[in-house]
Amino acid sequence: MKIAFGEGKLVPAVVQDRLTGQVRMLAYMTRESLARTLETGRATFFSRSRGELWEKGATSGNTLAVTSVHADCDGDALLILAEPRGPTCHTGSASCFFRQVDARGDGEPEAADEGQDASALLESLERELEARKASSATKSYTRKLLDGGAPLIGAKLREEAGELAQAIAGESDERVASEAADVIYHLLVGLASRGVPLRAVLSALASRMGTSGLVEKASRAQKDSPGK
Ligand code: AMP
Ligand code: ZN
Ligand code: ZN
Ligand code: ZN
Repeated sequence: MKIAFGEGKLVPAVVQDRLTGQVRMLAYMTRESLARTLETGRATFFSRSRGELWEKGATSGNTLAVTSVHADCDGDALLILAEPRGPTCHTGSASCFFRQVDARGDGEPEAADEGQDASALLESLERELEARKASSATKSYTRKLLDGGAPLIGAKLREEAGELAQAIAGESDERVASEAADVIYHLLVGLASRGVPLRAVLSALASRMGTSGLVEKASRAQKDSPGK
């Protein structure tokens, strides 16, 4: 399927964080900006207001390292998976989509939490744990774990892993899910205690799945292969 550049020779391109799936922005591409994107591995759009090619981050430094580019069913929209460097919105927000439209759809959209897909949920849990780590004032179970350090967190992780193993071996689906949630929570506390971001874990998983292949690499391979 060829890409259908529409009105003004533009095609809309949605940018998603390649690890979390977070939708970061939408902009428009021309054939030339798409070619530039594939060539350089950095997202390059066409600015409708300025009427020129625009490499995202050219002035702010907040670039998008492109992992892969996908077209929709009929080729009139693009999806770009990218590793964002810094916030993607020019307001300083990670994503441009931080405003929620009201129920009637006719008011000024208000700043609100983003919708919570599964990985956004993990990320907000991570942020909450980071906040707990930063302030010693609040008394909480997380605080107790963090104060206990590696010995306590390690002991709890082993305990919860044991409970999960038991649940998997013969308890109800609900118990398996609940114990798995316990393991994930304690795992996140362990990461927070060490200051290792969840993103690093997702990145390790992604590289094992072989999904880290850069567009750049793909286009190089294509050029290098004989007969093409
Ligand atoms: P940057 O590409 O980040 O260096 O920003 C340069 C200019 O591009 C900004 O002043 C905005 O006009 C525009 N811009 C940057 N990021 C976005 C975005 N996420 N969506 C729309 N326009 C943007
Ligand atoms: Zn379409
Ligand atoms: Zn924005
Ligand atoms: Zn448990």
